[in-house]
Formats: sequence, structure tokens, C-alpha cells
Amino acid sequence: MTIKGIGTRGLAAGRAFMKAEMHMDVIFCGDATAAFREAFEAVHEDLERLAEQEEVFSAHLEMLDDPMLSESVEAFLEEDMTPVAAVEAACEQICGMFAEIDDEYLRARVDDVRDVCRRLERKLCGDIRTWDEVEPGSVIVADELLPSDTAELDLSNVSAIVTRKGSRTSHVCIIAGNHGIPAVVGVEIDGIHQGDIILVDAYSGEVVVNPSLPQMKEFEARLDAEEASSGDVYGRRFDPAVTSEGKFVPVLANAGNLDEIVCAMEAGADGIGLFRTEFVFMLSNQLPSELIQFEIYRDAVLACKGKPLTIRTLDVGGDKPLAYIEMPKEENPFLGLRGIRFCLSHPEVFCPQLRAILRASAYGKLRVMFPMVDTVGELSQAIAYLEECKSQLREEGLAFDPDIEVGIMVETPSAVIMADKLAQNCSFFSIGTNDLTQYVMAADRGNASVSYLYDALSQPVVRAVAMTIDAAHREGVRVAMCGEMASDPAATELLLGLGLDAFSVAAPQVASVKEKIRK
Ligand code: PEP
Ligand code: MG
Repeated sequence: MTIKGIGTRGLAAGRAFMKAEMHMDVIFCGDATAAFREAFEAVHEDLERLAEQEEVFSAHLEMLDDPMLSESVEAFLEEDMTPVAAVEAACEQICGMFAEIDDEYLRARVDDVRDVCRRLERKLCGDIRTWDEVEPGSVIVADELLPSDTAELDLSNVSAIVTRKGSRTSHVCIIAGNHGIPAVVGVEIDGIHQGDIILVDAYSGEVVVNPSLPQMKEFEARLDAEEASSGDVYGRRFDPAVTSEGKFVPVLANAGNLDEIVCAMEAGADGIGLFRTEFVFMLSNQLPSELIQFEIYRDAVLACKGKPLTIRTLDVGGDKPLAYIEMPKEENPFLGLRGIRFCLSHPEVFCPQLRAILRASAYGKLRVMFPMVDTVGELSQAIAYLEECKSQLREEGLAFDPDIEVGIMVETPSAVIMADKLAQNCSFFSIGTNDLTQYVMAADRGNASVSYLYDALSQPVVRAVAMTIDAAHREGVRVAMCGEMASDPAATELLLGLGLDAFSVAAPQVASVKEKIRK
């Protein structure tokens, strides 16, 4: 059976590891309350163990321990519901309540409630499969993979990911891409079962379930060919990417934490073109202090060993809430208070980050980049905050690079249209095609039903990229690209032709994008 979805890149084969399946309709005959308590204890133990590794799970533990959850489940059990149905009903009841409450902190915790309830349901379903049991070479098959799933999964055991929900630029694809794991999303997974043999062609988005012998043979031949060519290409990963006309084009990498920076350097990256700092904030239960951030950014720049590190300031808001910050609920979060808009309206969050970045700039080649900039006014305000932080540090006698380069992400149509003016006010651009595509095409980057419009290689997006590069070059400003389009070897030639100066890609793509540039 062959099923089609939306793929990233890469080929992989393996046995299906199904994320827990829910059996809401099973007839339960036993002591429902005892079953719930047993599941509760088991989840408690899991979360205690996880909380020692990742702070985010402490919040889940707190949610589990909140009597509101157990009381609600037990009330539904008294109405003769099955334990799974009672947990599901309690989950909906609490999430509904939170959504109504005029308390942003509680509203933002709806995801925690859902995560905890899913864990309880998995235990109750008797599905004892846990991420610990994923064997090397597995193809993870799931309705959706939550950030907490990918945090728990040992990705070195995962050969591919297949999900029903998601888009090419959703969280799961970005994480998979950073680890060189092929992913196909938007797949109708109902016909796949635990242990099935799966062939994943993420280039075409095709997923073959229990292939025939000829299909297996053909796929193996393609895998061998890919491995052989990637072996040679990988061997040249540290060589500079110089075009046939003799132009050196840096290929940097995108990263979200220190480990990813270290991997990127080993993968041959010429630096980090996008350090997504939101993970520093999202994996914490409270606003990370200036000192904590300074240590993280300093270690990050040291890990780059003299190569440039581009730190993007906090890009949260809208669909990426921070549980510990009050954020008003928005009708259209992607058009709301996100990126630089959020930071400019929260100087108490923005300034400590800027100070931490500046202090880390004393330890290496560091650049600062602002996300979601729409107007020159926003850029000027952000630069004014940066200058204010510099003056404070000077007065306090703390070291920093006074000439730190300042750049912006170009990811809105407004920034494209105003690219000349923006270029007059900063030192570099990095085009964020993940967002630019959704805003140019008015197609949500996470919505599978409009994915036919969401295409970075479509003419409108390519024209927007070309306009940005031309306008920047007229002002003498260099342009990089850190959206997923830069990682796509099918786009490399086109982007070089448009005059792109640097690429920032998923670490596993560094070697092949460099090779494409050389050809
Ligand atoms: C982008 O929008 O292209 C980008 C790189 O930023 P993010 O994917 O983090 O929104
Ligand atoms: Mg973006």
C-alpha cells in the first residue's frame, strides 16, 4: 500500500512504531477507579523522572497533582464512564474552563493539561509502549508529535517520522530536519500497524506500507546510491563552498540549543545563521534571568570556535505562548503580537536578553537578529533598546563588542516592500521563507488543507525573495536565507542565481548544499 503526504527530504526504511493508539470505545469491566489510580501513579512516576531532565515536565507534574483533575475524572467515573472516556471528558472540561477564565497564565496551560491527559489515556489503554521502547531504525507513526514527545524520544533510534497532522515547517519537521531524519506529514495513517515495514521517500512524500519484494529491492538500491554519494559529499563538508565562478558562499546552520550547535560545527557549517532562542525560554518554567541567558549565549559562541553566531532575539507570541507571561488571547495569532512586536511591548523581557547577548559578544563573533520586523520604526526602536543596553553595560564596566552587527529576518510582505529602507538601517538580512511563504500566500504554514498554496518555490514567493535581494544589494547589504527553502538542494541553483550571499540550513544538509553550490 502506498500513501502520499508532504515530505521533507531523505529516504529511510524501518518498522513502524505506532505512538499509543487510543481505544475510547473499549468496554471496560473492572474497577474503574482503581484502574485510574494505577494509571495516575504510573504517570506520576514517569513525570518525576522526566522532570529531573527537563524543567517543562515539572509543570506537567504540578498539573497532574492538582486535585481538580482527579476530582473531575472521578466525578465522570461515577457517571459510569470508562476510565479513558472519563479522562478525556475531564480534559475537555478543564480546558474549556481555562479558556473562559480571565487569567492568561491558566489559559496558556491548556497544552499542559492535554499532554498530561494523553499520558493518562495511554496508560489506561494498556498500551504499555513508551518512547523508551523505540528500537534503532524505527519509523515513528503518529497522529501528531508534540514538542514533549520529541523532547522525550531518543532521536538516534528514529529512521523516519510519519504523521497525520503537521506541515513542512511545523515543529516536528524542523526538529526532524535538524537531526537528518526524513519526515512525511499529512499522511492518512489508519492503515499502518505496529511492526509494519515502512519505506519513506520524503522527497516525493510517498510512504509504502509492507512493500512487495521488487519495491524493497528498488528502494534498497536508491538507499545505497544515496549513501554512496552522501559519503563522498560528507567527506568534503569542511571544504569551502565556492561556485564555478569563484564566489565563496558561506553555508551556515540553524540551531536551537548548544548540542545542535556542536553538531552543526561537526557537520561542516561555516557558523550559525539562526540560533532560535525561544527554546531557551520555552524549556524554562520562568523567565530565564540575564545571567542564565548570558551563560547560554557565551557557551554557544564559544562552541562556534571563531565562526559567526547569529542570535535571533525571542520569537514568541501568537501561537507560541510563554506560560509565565501574560499574553492576551488573539483571534489571529499569526497576525498578532509575535516576534519583535512582542519584545517591543515587553522591554522587561527584551532588555535582559539584549544585555545577555551583548555580554556574550565579548567571547566571539556574535551578531544579533530581530524577527518579524515589519517597519523601519520597529527596527529603530529595537536598535534604541540595544543602544540603551550598551550604555548601561559601559557604565557597569561589563565587556561587549561595541560594533556588534545588527540584522533582521525578512519574513513579512511589508519587510520585502520596504527592504531598501530597512537595509539602510541594519547590516544584514536573513530571509525567513517559512513565514514569508505563509504571509505572501495567505496560507497558514501549519494547515494541511491549504498546503497546496504553501510553496516556497511558487512564483510569488520567489519574486519576493528576488525583490529583497535586489533591494538589499543596492544598499550594500548582504542577504542570507534561514527558512527551510535554503535547506532544499532543489532550490540552491535558483537562489544562487538570484544572488543570495549565504545559506543557513539544517545541519545534516550542510554538506549537500555546499556540494550543490560547487556544481
Ligand atoms: C522562518 O520563518 O523562515 C524562520 C526561519 O523562522 P521560524 O521558522 O522560526 O518562524
Ligand atoms: Mg519565522
